Amino acid sequence: MGRLTLHERSVWLVALLGSLAMGAGVATSAWSDLKAERVSVARDVGVHADVTADQIAAALQSTADPERLVRAILAALEAERSLLSAVVHQPSGEPWTWKRGGLGRDHVVPTLAPDAGSLDAVGQYLEAERVVTVRSLPFPGGTGRLVLEGSFESVALRRVEWAGFGVRCVAIGGVLLYLVAGLLLRRLFAPVERLGRAAKHVVREGKSGQRLDEKSAPELASLAVAFNNLLGALELRDEQLACVREDFELELEARTAELTALNDKLSRSQAMAQAAADTKAEFLANMSHEIRTPMNAVIGMTSLLMDTQLDAEQRALAEKVRRSGEGLLEIINDILDFSKIEAGKLELEETAFDPREVLEEAVDMVSQAAQEKGIELASFVHPDVPDQVIGDPGRLRQVLLNFLGNAAKFTDDGEVVATASLEAEDARHAVLRLSVRDTGTGIPDDRQATLFETFTQGDASTTRRYGGTGLGLAISQRLVRLMGGGVEFQSMDGVGSTFGCRLRFRKPEGVEQRAPSPQGLQGRRVLVVQENAAVADVLAAQLSNLGCVVEVEHSAYRAFELLRREGGFELVLLDSQVPGRDAFLSSLASQKASEAARVVLLAPLFQRKGLPQDPRVVAHLDKPVKQQQLVETLCSALGVATAEKSEEADGESTDNLVHTGLRERFRILLAEDNDTNQQLVQYLLGKRGYRVDVAANGRKAVDVFAVGDYDLILMDCQMPEMDGFEATGRIRELEQVRGTHVPILAMTANALQGDRNRCLAAGMDDYIAKPIKPREFVAWLEGWIQRSVGGRELTSRSDPQPAREAPPRPADPAPLDRDVLGCLLEDDEDSSGPELALELVDHYLRFAPDELAALEEAAEEEDWELCGKLAHDFVSSCGTVGAVRFAAVLRRIESACSRSPQEEVPSLVRGLREELQATVAALQELGG
Ligand code: ADP
Repeated sequence: MGRLTLHERSVWLVALLGSLAMGAGVATSAWSDLKAERVSVARDVGVHADVTADQIAAALQSTADPERLVRAILAALEAERSLLSAVVHQPSGEPWTWKRGGLGRDHVVPTLAPDAGSLDAVGQYLEAERVVTVRSLPFPGGTGRLVLEGSFESVALRRVEWAGFGVRCVAIGGVLLYLVAGLLLRRLFAPVERLGRAAKHVVREGKSGQRLDEKSAPELASLAVAFNNLLGALELRDEQLACVREDFELELEARTAELTALNDKLSRSQAMAQAAADTKAEFLANMSHEIRTPMNAVIGMTSLLMDTQLDAEQRALAEKVRRSGEGLLEIINDILDFSKIEAGKLELEETAFDPREVLEEAVDMVSQAAQEKGIELASFVHPDVPDQVIGDPGRLRQVLLNFLGNAAKFTDDGEVVATASLEAEDARHAVLRLSVRDTGTGIPDDRQATLFETFTQGDASTTRRYGGTGLGLAISQRLVRLMGGGVEFQSMDGVGSTFGCRLRFRKPEGVEQRAPSPQGLQGRRVLVVQENAAVADVLAAQLSNLGCVVEVEHSAYRAFELLRREGGFELVLLDSQVPGRDAFLSSLASQKASEAARVVLLAPLFQRKGLPQDPRVVAHLDKPVKQQQLVETLCSALGVATAEKSEEADGESTDNLVHTGLRERFRILLAEDNDTNQQLVQYLLGKRGYRVDVAANGRKAVDVFAVGDYDLILMDCQMPEMDGFEATGRIRELEQVRGTHVPILAMTANALQGDRNRCLAAGMDDYIAKPIKPREFVAWLEGWIQRSVGGRELTSRSDPQPAREAPPRPADPAPLDRDVLGCLLEDDEDSSGPELALELVDHYLRFAPDELAALEEAAEEEDWELCGKLAHDFVSSCGTVGAVRFAAVLRRIESACSRSPQEEVPSLVRGLREELQATVAALQELGG
């Protein structure tokens, strides 16, 4: 059954309530009527009792047989329909009882038996079905009782009648009410239902034009009016909405058109910007190539110039040119780097490297600047830092160099300490923290926020004082971010700064661990004498990590006191700049030799000249101290064997190369189109005793390689006719036939990202960017030479030659080994061999007299160390032209300088001039 409507529910409710009200009315009337009936029956029974009691009393007084009379009186009660029974109790004897005929046996007649004690009193007792009336009777022998029982049957009959009446009333009344209420309520609900239907219609059809009839009852009429008004308001709102929508659609259309136009414009601008960025990057790459090539010549030639005999003013001017050139180059590099990073074109290399080496190299590069400013420089790599990680060593070095360069620039006294430590590590990754701390000017708080912005520097006066572009930190920060890390810094104005970065590197698999520190160093007692506390701490930590037992003293006097007091130190690491250094050394000399410790003197490389010659000084150690050098120096000073030494005995060190004459036999091909660069490389390598052939372009290089027998090729990338990449490809093809592999090393002024990869992809083995810094270039190249000769048997060469300078030499040999230059001079006319030979001779003839004069001067001043060094250098130049006899004398001088210079050196030096004349004569003869 569905839910009842409000109308139906109301009708039912009215009918129900009406019936209930009627039923209640009938019930009330019946109740009062029945009550009155009961009272009337009781009264009648009472009257009958009184009358019967009077009759019985009269009968008891007058007759001799009262019982008969009494029973007759009782029997006469049969005529009264409302009486049920009567009992007369005598004071003694059986009661006389009358019971209406027709009453069942089970009808119990009320008696005056002792158990019916409630009836012994006179009065009337009402029960549900009956009424009992008790009256006293005056018997001659006492008082008796009359108990008369009346029935309420008439009341019960009347109740049934009332019930029937009630049911009829409720039924008929209910039906009537239902019908009437139905009619009335229908009239009431009809307008409401119409309202509901109208509202449904409006909702369903969405039209509000329909209106309700307002001519009904006033209450309903006002509802209809309100509803009609609502519909009117809705219609109005609809119209307004339609207008607004129309406006909105028009507006939307206009905006969409505008946006589309803007989008097109933006796309065009973006394409133009991209094109401009590409052009800029290309332009920068080309420009940098164009600028770097002449800069290469400027810096290189200035270095050459400074190698010649110059007076003080010329040297100062040349130095300025060199520094400005290097400064300019740094700026070019910075701008190029920055634009590459901004254009998102900087790609990072992924190669395994030793973080220790990178840090130490970077520190090395600023050591001269630090030295010139008189500040201490130290580096410390915690021993738990892994030996190899994978990343971009070049870019890491660049970041560290920037921190170190700034630290050195902004520090006027105190120290700069670079540290590498391990922050966290798992099987595949290591997180390293690299930081550079200085005791410099610090950075004021208000400047710190803008430090990493481009072209932002410290305050204006600082900028003037220190110079710089303000690009370094911005580049470093971006590089570190590219490497997935972050730059951190702390600084206090006037106290100093710490710049650092935290980087996560992958670890290569299956890396051989660094050789453990030599056992022989364990427990050795070492005294560090260093004025600067921070540097002393670094040294002490390095030594402790090697197993040494370290004491530190900051003054020479206290160090001497300690040595005298305690003794037992095997080694003293003495900083050459400690005040009282010489006094300390001479006081050591006054001690008994057995008690005195051996001394290792710490000094920057370019400061060795002028250091005291003291028998106690068994070795020199370059500052800033590198871990590996420290180990080697300690071992040699303490007579401990190192793993490296035994390895060296098997292989070839670069210095051995010259002894065995290998440099002269090692054939290098230089493919380079630029004249000055050709000269520079030839000179640099020639000075070290190498033979370099030049091919002016890629095609020539391939031709020369096809007929020659080269050990290494230096390849420029951009050359006329055939570039370095193609030439490399051709050479590799030739090699496939021959079954060989010659290292091809790229030397290029290209600086765009991916150049290294491009070189490697073309088949080259390594890459160095021009302009080359002579010292770095030679070290890099010799690393390759080492690798290349280390891997094969020297004696298997096609033209094995005895080591030219290996003793013992035949008595009084010729001044010149003609083979050295001879093999060049005998080369084809169009090869550069003869020219190179002549140039070498020319160079030798020009510079040898000056070198000799310097050597003689050093000997005269008894500066044996310098003398030894000059002799050593002179040997190299002699090696390049084959001046073997002269070189032999020089070698004797070199070794005498470190043994007993006083006795041997002066006489040897005296003989040099004559020897040189003989050499010059022989060379002129060869050249002529
Ligand atoms: P540049 O050194 O070429 O001026 P940087 O971006 O490397 O540019 O440095 C920006 C500025 O940050 C410097 O001019 C200097 O004021 C400040 N700064 C950087 N490093 C240090 C430092 N170690 N000590 C003091 N100031 C520093």
